[in-house]
Amino acid sequence: MSLLEVKNLQVAYGGIQAVKGIDFHIDQGELVTLIGANGAGKTTTLKTLIGMVKPSGGSITYDGKLNGTIPSYDYVRHGLVMVPEGRGIFSKLTVEENLQMGAYYRNDKAAIQSEIERVYELFPRLKERYKQLAGTLSGGEQQMVAMGRAMLSKPKLLLLDEPSMGLAPIIVEKIFEIIQMIAKEGVTMLLVEQNAKLALEVSQRGYVMESGRITMGGPARELLDDERVRNAYLGE
Ligand code: ATP
Repeated sequence: MSLLEVKNLQVAYGGIQAVKGIDFHIDQGELVTLIGANGAGKTTTLKTLIGMVKPSGGSITYDGKLNGTIPSYDYVRHGLVMVPEGRGIFSKLTVEENLQMGAYYRNDKAAIQSEIERVYELFPRLKERYKQLAGTLSGGEQQMVAMGRAMLSKPKLLLLDEPSMGLAPIIVEKIFEIIQMIAKEGVTMLLVEQNAKLALEVSQRGYVMESGRITMGGPARELLDDERVRNAYLGE
């Protein structure tokens, strides 16, 4: 059984259908990318997966549980964790306090501390700045905090919404390296990205979303070679 199974999912904002009946799945251990133009419905899809937005139809089964069975405040404890677009860090807290917030529901203090050390190994920049208020960090550093904080939640399925947004190319590369490292540690991931080329290069599979529908899906390698994808999303 897939870790995540989405069937005929529909989402409407008032009279506007943002998601028009999509089907997709993510298997344990997979890294899957969802690409699509602005307004295609990608963020809405992620928000619906974590219960921030209520679907108007269809079903979401995560880890064998149907949507509605886990209260939305409890998704993190069940391992479904999202790093939102714009990072969603606590700007008035320090780097280290932000990381600790990721573990707010855990009591295994020693393990938490060693995982914070592990995040500092992945992101030495954060170690240097552990006492700095997160709101004063650069965009790339804030993205690192957001990803580090998500790691402290011990995710089973990590949803990343546009992690490369607004970052310099060199930082984008670093963020993608980290995404691959997290994947190697066995975390299943759904990545939404404007940077379709990089995202597909690190993924096993991908889906293309257009105007609320999934119009293509398959191995990332095939999408990278597909002429329609190349023209529309890879700038070729
Ligand atoms: P982007 O890449 O620009 O973030 P996206 O694919 O993530 O785009 P969504 O943010 O999911 O797209 O938006 C899908 C559609 O739903 C858009 O037309 C958007 O204007 C609309 N929409 C999103 N949030 C709301 C809301 N809270 N109320 C009304 N309409 C909304």
